Amino acid sequence: MNFPQGIYLDNNATTALAKEAKALMEPFLGEQYGNPNSLHRFGTETHTALSNAIDEIYKGINASDRDDVIITSCATESNNWVLKGIYFDLLRFGEKNHIITTEVEHPAIRATCEFLEELGVEVTYLSPNQEGILCVEQVAEAITPKTGLISIMWANNETGLINPIEEIGKLARQKGILFHTDAVQAIGKIPVDVQKAQVDLLSFSAHKFHGPKGVGGLYIRDGIPLTPLFHGGEHMHGRRSGTLNVAGIVGMGEAMRLAVQYLEYENTELRALRDRLEDALLQIPDVLIIGDRRIRVPNTILCSIRGIEGEAMLWDLNKAGIAASTGSACASETLEANPVMVAIGADKELAHTAVRISLSRYNTKEEIEYTIEVFKHSIARLRQISSTYSS
Ligand code: PLP
Repeated sequence: MNFPQGIYLDNNATTALAKEAKALMEPFLGEQYGNPNSLHRFGTETHTALSNAIDEIYKGINASDRDDVIITSCATESNNWVLKGIYFDLLRFGEKNHIITTEVEHPAIRATCEFLEELGVEVTYLSPNQEGILCVEQVAEAITPKTGLISIMWANNETGLINPIEEIGKLARQKGILFHTDAVQAIGKIPVDVQKAQVDLLSFSAHKFHGPKGVGGLYIRDGIPLTPLFHGGEHMHGRRSGTLNVAGIVGMGEAMRLAVQYLEYENTELRALRDRLEDALLQIPDVLIIGDRRIRVPNTILCSIRGIEGEAMLWDLNKAGIAASTGSACASETLEANPVMVAIGADKELAHTAVRISLSRYNTKEEIEYTIEVFKHSIARLRQISSTYSS
């Protein structure tokens, strides 16, 4: 193989840190170690880089100056904060005690909703329609006078399918219901504009768009109260206490700047690479791709190869130096049928054969051509093994 580093096609799990982001972070991992809250030079010399980074993050999602963008440790924290904060502010009093979400959210939403159910909150988990997305009518039908929050992901981590966030945002605003979206898999792949989409709260995570791990954020629209998850000092306008992760924030700011800069590339060049791979996979008998590519983020393919266990396929790919996944990295230890495929109506057998391929702007044509050959050979080999055993 001519790819000594291997071929990384698991970018919905995490991405490589952009070298530009790494370079900007380095001084803050070394000599510029001051606490930004300190009044002396060590503290104040972090301020310019921090404020540039925060500016890039505001620009990247088109937040207005009046809104808050609070830095968190990851999107899991942001998602927990939204649900638990709104529970404290609104839902626990009972007048509003209903959340609308989906069956196919990330566990950071689903598990937190289940926790809130134990505290008496009612949760409606909508299933995606036959196209694998939510439609605004389903959300409208689920609204009751007690609905206090709608939380629906922008793009799904497994299928890459994009929900109609602007339509849902419009509905929520008309009905006066708070609207949160988990935009972890949208940022850097498609335009994300919090004002256009009329969202009140939005979660994101730097490591999904070539930023560092351990840093993310929560957008909070102007005027929305949200009880903090972390009490303590007065960091981040009192919204989240804890000494700032300066290097992480600086890296996330640069990653956001690059994500916006590369959006056009993602939509054209990267999409073409993904489509080339997808077209080649579709030439192989009994390979199915989940969801119409026109409503998917441009980097993702969730495919099912009838008769071949997803794990067996991944093992073969790994031996050939290719990293992919059977679905979300968080669920990979349970080896269960891919839940998103089950939710969108795939039969159990198909759901066990899911392989997720997620590209990034660092993938090349040569890597994709090599991947196509590996897929062809592996599928033929694994089919032969299974026919030997079944005969
Ligand atoms: N939400 C979605 C849609 C994700 O794909 C992920 C990670 O896979 C998360 C949330 C959690 O992100 P983090 O790793 O930053 O906690």
